[in-house]
Order: sequence, then structure tokens, then C-alpha cells
Amino acid sequence: MSTVVILKCEDYNPELICEKLQYALKMIDFRPENYKKLLLKPNLLMSKKPEEATTTHPAVVEGLINILKKENIDLIVADSPGGPYNVKRLNAVYEKTGIKDVCEKTGTPLNYNTSSIEIELKGESKIKALPVIYPYKECDGVVSLAKLKTHGMAVYTGAVKNLYGMIPGGYKVELHFRIREIERFMDLLLDMYETINPLLSIIDGVIAMEGDGPSQGTGRKLGILIISDDALAADYAASRIINLSKNDFPLIKRAIERGLFKEESIRFVGDSIDSVKVNDFKIPLKKDMTFIRGILPRFLEIYLKEIMTPKPYVVLNQCKGCSECYLTCPPKAICIEDKKAKIDYKKCIKCFCCHELCPYQAIKIRRNFIYEKLLK
Ligand code: SF4
Ligand code: SF4
Repeated sequence: MSTVVILKCEDYNPELICEKLQYALKMIDFRPENYKKLLLKPNLLMSKKPEEATTTHPAVVEGLINILKKENIDLIVADSPGGPYNVKRLNAVYEKTGIKDVCEKTGTPLNYNTSSIEIELKGESKIKALPVIYPYKECDGVVSLAKLKTHGMAVYTGAVKNLYGMIPGGYKVELHFRIREIERFMDLLLDMYETINPLLSIIDGVIAMEGDGPSQGTGRKLGILIISDDALAADYAASRIINLSKNDFPLIKRAIERGLFKEESIRFVGDSIDSVKVNDFKIPLKKDMTFIRGILPRFLEIYLKEIMTPKPYVVLNQCKGCSECYLTCPPKAICIEDKKAKIDYKKCIKCFCCHELCPYQAIKIRRNFIYEKLLK
């Protein structure tokens, strides 16, 4: 039985957050004294200010640090943001996201060691071993400090998807290239969840992101914190709050198929889902197109799939030619011509890494009208 605590939290007042987290940790019977050193893993996708709702708010990280420090546990804050994994980039992300300030204020080490260790993965993915950021080796537990956001490829990102950020820079890109089917990608996330098995998951939904997440969406105040001893259960609670059905949520759908998730095994504590639920959260749904398989001639099926699949496109007057998308595109489908990005759709695998990481929001997602309006 796992426990999910849902708590209304109006703003990022550090005392308020601390108070909420303290209550939640008591409810899930989290005993920090059992651990020597914990890895705190916020979602630091890219260099964005806290108010842009792309990264875990520093006040949430600070609240947890202040609680754990009282127990004299060693801590380290670490993540591998999108793009190359090097000290310069880490420093830029830590500064802009406000995490560096929090760590300096609380005297908590921030990771600058860009080496990695290999872990063997439990589960069903074809990937049997993975490199992860070095601090994982030195700690006896991981805390997933996630941000509640939509995601162009995964539909939703929270506590489990946050673990993908433990894979160092370039290897994340390589995996996107090797694993193109959404179900297989979910298998990898579930294997990471089973293997890393975070001791604690905290989802920052005070200001969540809706629409074109995980970086180009809009901040949406949900005023909630979700805390759990089970990352998958925490994500399930978040999905219920944003009115995302199990069928439209690839991670939970796959977890159910694999026998990893049962709704009846969750004990909910705190504010009820109904009291915080929103029915109009903008979610980039990915409709399963397999229903057309076998009912149409093969060439028509391929054609329909092609025109119905959302695609990235470059907004030329916003593109600064910075090459970030070129560097992060797994199949090298992007080139820079006349200081503008250009996508080769024959190579594009629709992973949306470019959309996720463009610092100027110059890559948007084009969805077919029929897909948008009729299949919803
Ligand atoms: S699309 Fe974005 S990331 Fe790519 S070159 Fe233009 S500004 Fe840079
Ligand atoms: S162009 Fe964008 S969506 Fe297409 S493969 Fe490259 S990074 Fe992925």
C-alpha cells in the first residue's frame, strides 16, 4: 500500500511549504534518520526562472532541505539538465532556476561532478544498463522533486519522468533515438522507477504548466503539493487532478499493463482530489492511432498516420540560430542555414527535444486540425 498526500498550498512562501511538507512526511511515515545521505533531484530542465514554471520551484527544494537538515542527514542536489552535461551549463541552470541561491543559503552541496556510473535496470525495457549521474553512487536514496507539467511526447511529466534527468546529457538524446515508440519509452521510465525506487516524491503543482509543456506551456495555478512514498502513485494523483484519464496517460496505461499499478493500493490523505481537481487543464493529448490498423489499405494508413502525427516546426522570426536544437536533436534532423534552424522531416522522429530545449521558444508543435478537433 502506498500513501499519497495532497495538500492545498496557495503560494511559494517558504514557511508554508515547510509546514506542508512536514505534515506530509509524518503522514507517509518517512523517517529521514534511517538515511545517511540523500540525493535531491529537482526538475532543472533548462535555464529558466522559477516563475516560468518549467523547473521545480526553489522554495519547494528549500522547504525539504530545511526539514532534512534538522535530522543531520548529508544531502546533495543534482540533476542533468537537457543538452550537454558540463560544469558551465550546470552552473548556468543552477543560477537561473534559483537552486544555487537555495543551496548557498542552506549550505547544501550542489553537484558539479559530471562523471557517471552505470546501473543495471530491472524490468522489461530492452535497455538493460544505463549511465546515471555520479551522486547516485554516494547516496542511499533519491528524492524526486518534480514539477507538474504537460509534455509533448509523454503527455504529462512528474515524479517518474523526472528520473530521466538522472541520465547524463548526451545519452538521453541517444536513448530518444534508440527508443522511438511511446510504449517502449514508457517501459524505460518504468524500469528506472523500479530500479531507482525513489524514497520520496514531491510534485510541485503550486504553479503547474499546461499547454505546450514541458517548457513552452503556460503557468497555471493549481495551488497543490503532492507528496508520496511512491512516484507512480504521486503521478497518478496528479493525473486525476488535471483530469487526464488512464487511457490518455501513457505511463499509467503501460504500468497497468505491466501489473505495476493498482489504484486500490493507494491510500489518499489530505485534501481530496475533488476539492483540487480542474476540468479545463490544457493537455496535449496523444491519440492512439492503432485503431486505423487493418481497416484501411496500408498506403492510406501510412499517409493518414503521417498527416495526423504532430510535428515540430520552426518559427523563423523567433529563431536566433543558437544551434541548441541542432545539438540536441537525436537523429540530427536539424541543420542551421542562414542562421535559422531547418528540420528534415524525413529524419525527424518526433521526440520534441528541440521544442523542449529551444531557449527562444522558436520551435512549436503543429497538430492536424482533425487530430485536434475530432479525435479529442
Ligand atoms: S530553433 Fe531555437 S534552438 Fe534552434 S537554432 Fe533557433 S533559436 Fe536556437
Ligand atoms: S527535429 Fe525535433 S522532434 Fe524531430 S527528431 Fe529532432 S529533436 Fe526530435
